[in-house]
Amino acid sequence: MAKIIKNAIQCKLCGDIIESKYTHDFVTCSCGACSVDGGHEYHRVVFKSKDCFIDLLVEEEEE
Ligand SMILES: [Zn+2]
Repeated sequence: MAKIIKNAIQCKLCGDIIESKYTHDFVTCSCGACSVDGGHEYHRVVFKSKDCFIDLLVEEEEE
């Protein structure tokens, strides 16, 4: 199972880098096109179009 180190995305439309820092921390970019959720528990992205964000998720493999 992979552990989430940084749960973040960048919106291509407004350029915002948004990061969900804890579980149920639902963060939306300033133009409202995409959101990230889940903190270090899970990675969930809500978006208007899958082309509108860059996934910046950083994970660490757990032995
Ligand atoms: Zn945006």
